Amino acid sequence: MLLKERLANRGEPGYRAGQVWDWAARGVGGYAEMTNLPGNLRSELEQDVPFSTLELEREAKASDGTVKALFRTRDGHLVEAVLMRYRDGRRSLCLSSQSGCPLTCTFCATGQMRFGRNLTASEILDQALHFRRIEPVDHAVFMGMGEPMLNLDSVLEAARSLPDVGITWRRTTISTVGWLPGLTRFVDEVEEPVRLALSLHASTDELRSELMPVNERYALADVLAECERYFKLRRRKVFVEYVMLRGVNDRVEQARSLANLLDPKVFKVNLIPYNPTGMYDRSSRRAIAAFKHVLDRARLPATVRLTRGRDIAAACGQLAAG
Ligand code: SAH
Repeated sequence: MLLKERLANRGEPGYRAGQVWDWAARGVGGYAEMTNLPGNLRSELEQDVPFSTLELEREAKASDGTVKALFRTRDGHLVEAVLMRYRDGRRSLCLSSQSGCPLTCTFCATGQMRFGRNLTASEILDQALHFRRIEPVDHAVFMGMGEPMLNLDSVLEAARSLPDVGITWRRTTISTVGWLPGLTRFVDEVEEPVRLALSLHASTDELRSELMPVNERYALADVLAECERYFKLRRRKVFVEYVMLRGVNDRVEQARSLANLLDPKVFKVNLIPYNPTGMYDRSSRRAIAAFKHVLDRARLPATVRLTRGRDIAAACGQLAAG
């Protein structure tokens, strides 16, 4: 990192980098505010070392208070991240792990933009720090652009620093399409109590492969088995995301099939109202309620996700850096 190099070259004591990080994690806007650093060091850093790896291109605010930020990396890739504000005071960040996404889920706008590259840990953390400068934050979900399990090392490196920013591991969730190599490593190696979410969206391989081509590579049964192993090892439930597409996956029989597939001890279902991206229609409220009713009767825990930020295309599946 440029900052560490610069500090070392100047012969600064080893704790300087930690001091800078402490300030940044608490939401200061630049080196000038870091009052326990010598004045000449502050002005030199201000001049020579960019404070963030990301440049803010644009910011939009939705009527529900959601804020979406569009950033540009040094080498010109676009990245979006979202701050969600809830009435109970919760402040949740939706972070991106990649610029674009190489997977091509048919209902998701990110998959339709050109894939850029994996983000570095600093680029992921700088998304969080940006919002921390607006206000204190307490939750994070890796549900922005990209597939976190394709960039696991950087995602974990960033996640491991989030507690300094105010977001504990228990309040951090990594969401995956079920990319098995990454998921297996996550289950085996990650001892921090970070939460796991699986984007499922269908209860049969046939339909899931139609919606999510990645399913042809890693079959449903194998992905679910890996989630069950996570539960056995870590004793934490796995969240299942299920986006409700009218006439595609929202029928009552499909709810029954989902209830048969998922062990209520292991999984908790989050039904997501579809946010328009072109291909599909959203399920009616009534269809969502009927679907949930079947899951309730089967004692499979289920909730309906509160949609945030749809009017600024900041909702699930709408991040496309447009
Ligand atoms: N690639 C990871 C991380 C992104 S999470 C993953 O897919 O899990 C983004 C979540 O939003 C996923 O659950 C995804 O399936 C869901 N989503 C995508 N497009 C959507 C849309 N148009 N409406 C609602 N949810 C959508």
